[in-house]
Amino acid sequence: MRVCRANSKIRPGQAARAVLALLAVAGALVLLYHCPFRALFGVACPGCGMTRALLSAVFSDFKTAFAYHPLFPLLIPAALWIGLRLFGRLRLSAKRETPYILLFAGVFFLVYIVRLCSGDPVVAPDVAHGLVPRLLAGLC
Ligand SMILES: [Zn+2]
Repeated sequence: MRVCRANSKIRPGQAARAVLALLAVAGALVLLYHCPFRALFGVACPGCGMTRALLSAVFSDFKTAFAYHPLFPLLIPAALWIGLRLFGRLRLSAKRETPYILLFAGVFFLVYIVRLCSGDPVVAPDVAHGLVPRLLAGLC
């Protein structure tokens, strides 16, 4: 069996295709995205508000962006990290990479708890409209 290895150098056009793919994904998210976690359970997920925050930031409305999701600036280094890994420019062992991933997830979860406890309207629960609570209510 032949195994193909990814070339670590970025070929001409490869970066342009990656940017176009990212723009297509961003456009699809803006037009189609609704949080699947919220749709299922009627409770916001830790990432709820991020798309709206990014859109506000794109239009230089940073106050609104922080109101939607205070961690939206962290997506810039995260996107760079993922991009560098995809193109083979960053190679870290799992032992070195795992603490950063855990730190990122921990900060995300901590901010999520603070947002829930502070009554942030972006993450306010709406259990009555969640699919699972409605199904469970129908069973009782
Ligand atoms: Zn969500």
